[in-house]
Amino acid sequence: MTRERIPDELIEDIRTRFDIVDIVGRYIELKKKGRTYFGLCPFHSEKTPSFAVSAEKQIYHCFGCGSGGNVFSFLMNIEGLNFIEILKNLSDEAGIELSIKEENNEEVQLKKKLIEAHELAAKYYHYILLETEMGKDAYKYLLNRGFTKETIIDYQLGFAPDSFDILKKFLVKRGFEQAQLVEAGLLSKSKNDKYYDRFRNRVMFPIADSQGRVIAFGGRTIGNDEPKYLNTSDTLIYNKSKNLYNLHKARPFIRASGSVLVFEGYIDVISAYQKGINNSIATLGTSLTIEQARIIRRNTEKAYLVYDGDDAGRDAAIRASTVLESEKAEVTIVQLPKGMDPDDFLQKNSLTDFEELIEKGTSRYHLQKQIIRDKYSFDIGEEKVKYAMEILDIIADIEQAPKREYFLKELSKEVNLSEDSLIDELKKKLLKQKNKNIVKKPAQKWNNHINYGKHSHNQSISIIPAYQKAEREILWIMINDAEKGKKLAEKIRANFQYPEHSLLAAKIYSYYEDGITPSISKLLLDFQDQPDICKLLSSLEFQFEQYDKDSNKNIDSTLLIIEKRKLEAELKSLQSELEIATKTGKQDMIVELLKKIQDYQKKIKLLIK
Ligand SMILES: [Zn+2]
Repeated sequence: MTRERIPDELIEDIRTRFDIVDIVGRYIELKKKGRTYFGLCPFHSEKTPSFAVSAEKQIYHCFGCGSGGNVFSFLMNIEGLNFIEILKNLSDEAGIELSIKEENNEEVQLKKKLIEAHELAAKYYHYILLETEMGKDAYKYLLNRGFTKETIIDYQLGFAPDSFDILKKFLVKRGFEQAQLVEAGLLSKSKNDKYYDRFRNRVMFPIADSQGRVIAFGGRTIGNDEPKYLNTSDTLIYNKSKNLYNLHKARPFIRASGSVLVFEGYIDVISAYQKGINNSIATLGTSLTIEQARIIRRNTEKAYLVYDGDDAGRDAAIRASTVLESEKAEVTIVQLPKGMDPDDFLQKNSLTDFEELIEKGTSRYHLQKQIIRDKYSFDIGEEKVKYAMEILDIIADIEQAPKREYFLKELSKEVNLSEDSLIDELKKKLLKQKNKNIVKKPAQKWNNHINYGKHSHNQSISIIPAYQKAEREILWIMINDAEKGKKLAEKIRANFQYPEHSLLAAKIYSYYEDGITPSISKLLLDFQDQPDICKLLSSLEFQFEQYDKDSNKNIDSTLLIIEKRKLEAELKSLQSELEIATKTGKQDMIVELLKKIQDYQKKIKLLIK
């Protein structure tokens, strides 16, 4: 399916039914400053919001990494889907009939098939659990574990019977190919090429993507089969280190409460839900990854880690906290009584008990400190110093200076050593780390800082050459003031130095010829499949919005910059020609070139005057 077959009017109709602020707001927290909304960019790591969304223009732009575009580009980037898929999703949501003939893109087709198979499997497993004799024992098991019928329905829990082909038959009858279902992770293939159900005799927990579509399963055995928990491995539609259990359901509650509870198991999430806690999610069998931390961070800055009450759980929580802190999250580690997991605790205690436990949560620093403290005996002076040195290592890891100072004071009192001597040691450790970080974090240079409201984009402008800015300014005028733009077009023609500028200019010229008034939204649509141009367009809009249309002075000096740049480029090529001529000793040519070079130098000088 190509773009050409969907009329522009229909695409525009779909686009205008959605407010980009709402759509972006589904993924990141936005705060309004003046006429623009700001948030933390979901496409690069940063601590100061430089991701701007304009409700007025219906575009977004990141001053940090340069990403930008309209609502379609945003969704394409964040969901990893193509234009048609996004259009289809939005038209479904808006209830617009989009008669797209079936995609011929194989991968897109396959993805769709795999999701469809999961959706059907989830319904079928759910039906078996609630409505059939086969599901009775599993149903009883769930009730015994404290799940209510409402919960079972809300979370679409199901049962995969102890059969090698019940799901296979069900799906094959509905037109799915067995090989496809292996790729989906629903069937397995034996050595002698026989296909069979992967999940057997297990209670099934559907795992949804950020849009609530079932893309994987977690299965818990109700017998003695190993492993106790069997989860879908990574597939074309599911990646356990990039998905989070229950995110689509929890998202509005995370936003509303301003915090998230992170568990390690889906059963914990469901137990919490039964207690009336809706802002919880879980990792999916891996330790928390940086991708997951970023997803969490897009929704809130406050995270509570509720892991098992044993050493392994504690260590995992410390690791997860470090990952979240690297994404500037504020993390509290909630400690459960020894030997208990969150589900146990929630089943046996009241909501108030759980809330008290959360209240008592601690920071990674204090938890690590406690662990180290247990290793040493303070009766021996030497051990006290060793303890202090270990604690300084952790303090050095803390990013905020005031926090470091606070903990240092605390430590000084605790071990009865002077602050000065501790500061000396800390400085050494910080220096060591700084050197380490310089090697480690080259990508940080992308992060810039902007002021809320004023959003003076000094930083992003100052690093780009003047002629680049000049070319962009001209393009901006050509888009926003067709009358002036046409005159400029005659002067400039193809004199743009940047290929993407030329491309954009060519498009604008073609609009002029066809009598079409240019606009950002029209251009974004025409360049939908060229992210670089979309970025350029969104940056133009945010860069020049204060531009004074009536001022000619601006344009003249801008044109001058472009003219100068053109002459300089020509001069440069003459100079390299001269270099070659000198080497090959062609006298006539040398003289001629020298004359030309002088002309150009004169022209440039005149321009500057
Ligand atoms: Zn960015």
